[in-house]
Amino acid sequence: MIRYNLICSADHDFEGWFSSSKDYDEQAASGLLTCPVCGNTNVEKAIMAPAVKTARKAKATKDREAKAAMTAVAAKIRQEIGKSCENVGSNFAEEARAIHYGEKPERGIYGSTTPKESAELKEEGIAAHPLPDILVPDTDKPKLN
Ligand SMILES: [Zn+2]
Repeated sequence: MIRYNLICSADHDFEGWFSSSKDYDEQAASGLLTCPVCGNTNVEKAIMAPAVKTARKAKATKDREAKAAMTAVAAKIRQEIGKSCENVGSNFAEEARAIHYGEKPERGIYGSTTPKESAELKEEGIAAHPLPDILVPDTDKPKLN
């Protein structure tokens, strides 16, 4: 037995069972297929994607939307960092330390550190967080390398 999702010309969808696809073809050709809702004999196979495929597609769309939303948020934060924070480049550890000990005015800074510098800052209890690449202001990217 083979099951087809059928649809009449008035958009009623229903299932039909056939012994084979040939059986369906013959019934359809001889006008034996009728819509159980309206009796319409203008019935054809409904085009349907398997549920699994649809779910996967929906997830892909959702993922894409989430990614786009994240990218938009990241762009905003990146802009904000670019506007309100100073890029101190490879002097980051030094500047962070100076701010921490009150030798320099408190302000938002970002820059790069070596793993050693980063560990030292941590030991001294100086708050510094790795800035994900996606949040590094575009114009400053070359300087940070
Ligand atoms: Zn119908």
